[in-house]
Amino acid sequence: MSKLSNLSRSIKGKVVLITGAGSGMGRATAHLFSDEGAKVIVTDINKDRADRVTKEITDSKGEAINLELDVSNKQQIDKTIEEIQSTYGALDCLINNAGISLPSKIDVENYSEIWDKTISVLLKGQVEMIRSSLDLIRESESPRIVNISSTEGFGATPGASPYTAAKHGVIGLTRSLATELGKEGITVNCICPGPITTDMTSEIPEDHKEIYSRRRVPLKRYGDPEEVAHATLSLCLPASSFINGAVLTVDGGMSIKRA
Ligand code: NAP
Repeated sequence: MSKLSNLSRSIKGKVVLITGAGSGMGRATAHLFSDEGAKVIVTDINKDRADRVTKEITDSKGEAINLELDVSNKQQIDKTIEEIQSTYGALDCLINNAGISLPSKIDVENYSEIWDKTISVLLKGQVEMIRSSLDLIRESESPRIVNISSTEGFGATPGASPYTAAKHGVIGLTRSLATELGKEGITVNCICPGPITTDMTSEIPEDHKEIYSRRRVPLKRYGDPEEVAHATLSLCLPASSFINGAVLTVDGGMSIKRA
């Protein structure tokens, strides 16, 4: 019988672009990929944060560069991809992680404004990142795109319809592009985190988090950013070459719990 473990489980030397990498899951993902030997492009709308994460990585002997990137700004996206082209001449993995959470009931006065902003960051931002980086990604031997959605991508919390609609859209985008780009060997997958301890959830009081976790999450706690980063890494491995169009839930079992 032939050897079964022919596929590479290493991300070493791969060029990986992460959006919103200055904080939370993006930061954890940048660290994990660097720990595994990848060249990490740390991008965030907040340049200081991107600088800080890049320094953390380079101080621990990892390879990283930082770029200021607002994913709702097409010019900045194109400039970022041009810089990656001139610095590395390659891009193997794109991780669309940047996010905002602007709760909004349907009848608030500035609903349209919140809708436009949310869609432009969470959904159109991912689309434009993919469109701009596609030529470079096509040249990779193991091209990977991972889009971060949410358990809001297949469920809903009252008063958050722009966020929920955008995250549902990310799943549709992922599935559609998985079918469109699959013939080129590019895999497009999506991660749906449940409640994770990051800046995005930092304003929820600790006792609310505890009650919520006890009631809703079989593991009885919020997740850590690093636990999501490991799921992202696994989808980006060269060995994950037949995982395409997957919607991977990382929520401690929350979404399958009935009572
Ligand atoms: P986080 O700690 O707030 O990190 C998100 C990062 O994205 C921040 O640095 C943020 O900067 C940046 N960002 C915001 N707008 C941006 C833009 N236009 N362009 C580039 N970067 C931008 O949040 P997180 O929890 O790690 O969220 C990461 C992803 O997971 C998001 O897509 C989020 O929707 C999703 N998610 C989070 C949870 C959760 O429970 N935390 C659950 C499910 C899904 P600023 O801080 O300056 O805005």
